[in-house]
Amino acid sequence: MNINRNIVVFLGPPGAGKGSLSKLCSQRLGWIQFSTGNVCRQHISEGTEIGKQIDFTIKSGKLISDGLITKMVADWLYLQLKNPGAVILDGFPRTRTQALALNDLLKSFDLSDIKLDIIKMVIPDSSIISRLSARYICQNNKCQAVYSMHTDSLKPKSGIICDDCTHPLIRRPDDEESAIKQRLETYYNHEKDLIEFYSEEGLAVKKLEVECPLDQVFDKLLALIDRAD
Ligand code: AMP
Repeated sequence: MNINRNIVVFLGPPGAGKGSLSKLCSQRLGWIQFSTGNVCRQHISEGTEIGKQIDFTIKSGKLISDGLITKMVADWLYLQLKNPGAVILDGFPRTRTQALALNDLLKSFDLSDIKLDIIKMVIPDSSIISRLSARYICQNNKCQAVYSMHTDSLKPKSGIICDDCTHPLIRRPDDEESAIKQRLETYYNHEKDLIEFYSEEGLAVKKLEVECPLDQVFDKLLALIDRAD
């Protein structure tokens, strides 16, 4: 395996902008994004067995099982790690069990020495709620581009249509207020465990303030990744 690469883990509450930042990193740096949320939504819209199993859980804003999500990541990572370039894990690990599973996966792929950058996005809850209430995503499950009706630079160019693939834009069912509350609660419950886990592992969790324009978030991210800890 080629080990001249790193894995960037984005930790952050829903609405922190993990997807938008991942997309920018892919466009500007060629990094490869793996969003567990996108894969789950793809299963649902394709009506696969997994999709039927997880549909209700996702709509209610809860986490799906560690075992199922880890299997999805393992299959993807196994294929991707043969290619060069950084990998972004967007939305995984989300629990201590998943973080342990990621370490075990890297060991099993003989990649224990790979550089892991753990980036924790920071944003006040009030901003999250206003961001999520203005969020639209592309209905095309191969695209799932994210837009915001509140921010000029993130608005679609015309109507409620995706700039990239011209499919209609929709609201995510789990962006409804009751699901948002559940998702935030779930996120904060597990965030503490994850930070504890990585500090026990001797890995710095680098804080990235994300309440600013995406270009600035991108520059701050690069500075954090370059910083040796
Ligand atoms: P996201 O697009 O990252 O906000 O994820 C949407 C939903 O997918 C989450 O609310 C969970 O139901 C599910 N999901 C995504 N990633 C994970 C994960 N690592 N562990 C468990 N459930 C997940």
